[in-house]
Amino acid sequence: MAGPVLVIHGGAGGDGPWKGMTSLDPGRISCMENVLSTVGKFLSEGISALEAVTIAVEMMEDEPLFNAGKGSVLDENGQVTMDASIMRGSDQAAGSVVNVSKVRHPIRVANALLQRGWPVMLNGIAADNFGIEAGVEAVNADFLVTDLRQAQWKKWHDTRAAIGSTDEDDSVLDHDLEGRVETEFSDEPQGMGTVGAVALDVLGNLAAATSTGGMTGKPSGRIGDTPIIGAGTWADERIAISCTGVGEAYIRTCAAHELAIRMRNDNSNLEQASTQVLDMVAPFGGRGGLISVMADGRVSLDFQTTLMYRGTWKEKQIEVGIGPESI
Ligand code: ASP
Repeated sequence: MAGPVLVIHGGAGGDGPWKGMTSLDPGRISCMENVLSTVGKFLSEGISALEAVTIAVEMMEDEPLFNAGKGSVLDENGQVTMDASIMRGSDQAAGSVVNVSKVRHPIRVANALLQRGWPVMLNGIAADNFGIEAGVEAVNADFLVTDLRQAQWKKWHDTRAAIGSTDEDDSVLDHDLEGRVETEFSDEPQGMGTVGAVALDVLGNLAAATSTGGMTGKPSGRIGDTPIIGAGTWADERIAISCTGVGEAYIRTCAAHELAIRMRNDNSNLEQASTQVLDMVAPFGGRGGLISVMADGRVSLDFQTTLMYRGTWKEKQIEVGIGPESI
C-alpha cells in the first residue's frame, strides 16, 4: 500500500526570478508545516482522504496570509467572494460553491454538498444559506477582510493595475516595506494565494480540494476555475489534482481533467504529464501550477510562475517550498 500521502499548495504566481522570502512568508511556511503535520497524523490514524483535504484546506482558509477564507483578495467593489470545490476519487462525488461571502470555511460547504449528493454546485446566497444550515460557521465581511488585502486592493485601484497583479505584493503593508521588491505590473492578469490539497488515505482512496478568493479586482460575479470540476479540481480512482493560476486559462483547457486523461492514457511519467498540461494552459494567459497524487503514491508539484507555496507529507516526512528549488 502506497499511502497515506498529503500534498498542499498555497497558490502560484509571479514573473521572473524569485527574489527570496518576504517578511510575511515565514507565516505561510509555518501554516503549511502545521497543516502537513496535523493532517498527516490524522491520515496515518486512518481518516479518509476526503476529510483530510477538507481539514487541510480549512486550516489554510483560516490563515489570513493565504487567498482563501479569511484573507481572501477583494473584487472590483472591494468585496470578498469565494469559490471552492471538492471531489472524492472512489466514486467521483463532487461538491462546489461559487461566490460565497458569509461562511468561514467554503470548503466545508462544498464537502456538505458532496455528502448530500445533489446538486454538485450551488452559488451565492443559496450556497451560503445551505452551508450555514449544514452547520458551517457564519461570519461577516469584517472577519474575512484583512489589512493586507485592503492595501492590495487600494494599490490595484489607484494604479489601474491588471486584475490580480497586486495579489502577491506583500510590500503594500507599511510594516512590511522590507518585503519582496514591488511587483512589476504586467497587462496579463495574475493571481496568487489560492489553496488546495490532494490526499491518498490508508485505504488507497484519493480526494482533491481547492478554495480561493479569486483575484484582486475581479469583476463582480466572476467565476474562476477553482469551483469548476475538471478545471481547478479533479479526483478519480487513479489521481487527485488541485490547480492554481489565472482561472480562465484552466477552464478553457479543463486542466485538471486533462492531466487525469493523460495519466489514464499513459501512466508512465506523472511529472512530464503535469508539465505538458501547464504548457497547454500557459498560452491562454494562465501560467500557474498544480499538485497531484496518484493511487500508487507518486506526487507532482509543478509550476511555471516565479513561485508556488507548496508542501508534502509522505512517509511521515514533511517538505515545504516556495521558490524554484525542488522539493
Ligand atoms: N485560480 C484562481 C482563480 O482564477 C486564482 C489562483 O489560483 O490564484 O480564481
